[in-house]
Amino acid sequence: MNLFAGIEGGGTKFICALGNGHGEIYERISVPTTTPKETIAQIIKFLRSHKHEGELKAIGIGSFGPIDNDPESKNYGQITATPKPGWLHYNIVETFKHAFQVPVGFETDVATAALGEYEWGSAQGLKNFLYMTVGTGIGAAAMINGQLVRGMCSAEMGHLLIPHDKIVDPFQGICPYHGDCLEGMASGEAIKMRWQVRSALDLPASHTAWDLEANYLAAGLMNIILILSPQRIILGGGVMKQMHLFEKIRERVVQKLNGYVPTPEILDDIDHYIVAPGLADRSGVAGAIALARRTYEQEKK
Ligand code: ZN
Repeated sequence: MNLFAGIEGGGTKFICALGNGHGEIYERISVPTTTPKETIAQIIKFLRSHKHEGELKAIGIGSFGPIDNDPESKNYGQITATPKPGWLHYNIVETFKHAFQVPVGFETDVATAALGEYEWGSAQGLKNFLYMTVGTGIGAAAMINGQLVRGMCSAEMGHLLIPHDKIVDPFQGICPYHGDCLEGMASGEAIKMRWQVRSALDLPASHTAWDLEANYLAAGLMNIILILSPQRIILGGGVMKQMHLFEKIRERVVQKLNGYVPTPEILDDIDHYIVAPGLADRSGVAGAIALARRTYEQEKK
């Protein structure tokens, strides 16, 4: 049996799972993100201990970033800028290639989550869609014509500039690069700072924070709709666990577009246009397995 390993590397934990590449997941572990030496050693041990159950054909990694995932670059496979001790310039791709001698696919965490949704989640059957995660930070990946969008490097739609009425919301934003960009204003971290709460989830559904949040996210999504014309938008991440936010965002997206994009998706069926991830919290690791299978198929050609 062919086995594919998916690794979802996050800032607080790494999840690794083995699957057949067609939707079945057999075993998985979750280990805390400490140093590469400790964390990666546990993943390698897990994969080695399950190897006898089938043949490991490829590994897919969706990593926190920023990362260098340009195969032409001399730093390909590295995490390129992080304050986490030991991870700066750590080459995760080389480590796994060396340990298992199999092809290794490498993408951002949000791109692999998009792949998972494309294969088995809310974007099945669509060739053009957006996946956005609204958590500690904001990241997004777009698939256009069945390919993840990439230019010079990965797109950074979490840092779009959005309108900021400083009378309504005097908060300056928390992005160290741009201040009041989308991530600076609407990430989980921004909500915590603006309202001085331990977690965004401590704010009740009736709190004005959520109107502001929906407004900023809708502004960002309007820009993306106008540029990429995705057939669907999937919103994941910790902040989006507030399910009431979906309704607020949908309303504002329709209001802001004001009939200018007259598609049935937006005018008649917005509830199925802006949706939650079909795989809930499993998009990332499932997508990493899909990435492994794709990498294997590509190398076979
Ligand atoms: Zn920014």
